[in-house]
Amino acid sequence: MPYLMIGIDDTDWEGGGCTTYVMYLFVKYLIKDGLTNNIVGLPRLTRLNPYVPFKTRGNASLSIIIRIESESDAVNYVELMYSLIDQMVKRVGKTSPGIAYMVVNDLLNINERLIWFYRKSVRDVVTLDLAHRVADKVNARLVGGRGVIGALASLGFVPVDATYEFIAYRPEDEERPAIDINDVKAWDEATRPFTFLNLYNDQVLIEPHGPDPVLFGIRGDSPHHVLTMGNYLANKYNAIGWIIYLTNQGTEEHRSHVGEFIPYRNADITGVITNVAFDDKGHALITLDNGRKALAYRHLGISRELMNCDGCLAQVWGGVKPNGDLSLYVEGIRVLHDRYVEVRNPRCPMCGGPMESMGRSGLLRCKRCGFQGKLPRIITPRNRWFLANPRASEYRHLMKPSERVGLEGLALYMPKPFLWVY
Ligand code: ATP
Repeated sequence: MPYLMIGIDDTDWEGGGCTTYVMYLFVKYLIKDGLTNNIVGLPRLTRLNPYVPFKTRGNASLSIIIRIESESDAVNYVELMYSLIDQMVKRVGKTSPGIAYMVVNDLLNINERLIWFYRKSVRDVVTLDLAHRVADKVNARLVGGRGVIGALASLGFVPVDATYEFIAYRPEDEERPAIDINDVKAWDEATRPFTFLNLYNDQVLIEPHGPDPVLFGIRGDSPHHVLTMGNYLANKYNAIGWIIYLTNQGTEEHRSHVGEFIPYRNADITGVITNVAFDDKGHALITLDNGRKALAYRHLGISRELMNCDGCLAQVWGGVKPNGDLSLYVEGIRVLHDRYVEVRNPRCPMCGGPMESMGRSGLLRCKRCGFQGKLPRIITPRNRWFLANPRASEYRHLMKPSERVGLEGLALYMPKPFLWVY
């Protein structure tokens, strides 16, 4: 039996809209027509390269797989999607919606070129021309503007690691209500580690702040846990509906593990830190012995960890921004070998008082009793490796939160919940 794979992108504009909402409404139409069982797995929310200049917010694209009777069925579904986009999208500014679709007979053998195109779109900047060439090769059809890039990329999402997001929507004409931190705390405790990035200290992280119709989103490695937490909050805060997506969020799929600095791509460099300079705003400019420079913004919260790190061997990764000379916008740092040693004066052997240095002679003098002597200094190596991640409130969609370490791949073994859209 054939399957229709259909992807969409670029349906939101500066003042509103959200591509996840378009897909949600599309799914609701299928359900109204009694086609729920034709939807294969869960609809997919794929985040693409976070450094592309044309994105409005989180660079999301969406796709869905539907079991169909014959190829001619596909046309009806595509027309439905097309008319939904036409009705809902304000074509202002950069907004340039696109649809990609293809009919396949075997979901286990997705064309390698399509998978490659997805991976490239998550890590690099691709051209419209490349999207058209790949589409030709894999027999996909592209309809619309620049959005066809993300739409096609989403069709090539064959996950080796994945997560889920429960997204609840609010009525269009109502303000987004503030979600009570106590609700989030209680559910965070009850569902951890199968949900993540719910809170940062006393800050609720599940609510967006933009003009989109999203009320909140619960992310996690288990669809059942995001469902339980999300369903409670959706009822309490009057959501008009909700859906669970399979996503590539939190999987670090955007990391390329190459040292080369190419604009708008992720780079991963290893070297000895020769200097860390803090500017008056508290941002840290890190220089490595290979001459590479990386900028850790203060709001990432990792600058403090870099104090006294000269001489440390470190792995630094992030996105390359082309401001003047290419610099790395730091997403994370792993100190592999910490060379920092703390040197302290011993206490006075006579009275236990603090001792001070007497200059070049190497002698120490007790500040309390005046005792003088040549005593060895106390040398304490910090001797630890550490991982410096941004604070939870600064995570971008694709970055892997530390709570997820060890849970990679788990999501793919999770059965589809009976209830996944409402
Ligand atoms: P959202 O708000 O839904 O999270 P976004 O608003 O940030 O996403 P889009 O409106 O989806 O971003 O616009 C991103 C545009 O960039 C789309 O047209 C998409 O096709 C295109 N795009 C995405 N990834 C790439 C890439 N790697 N190279 C080139 N173009 C890309």
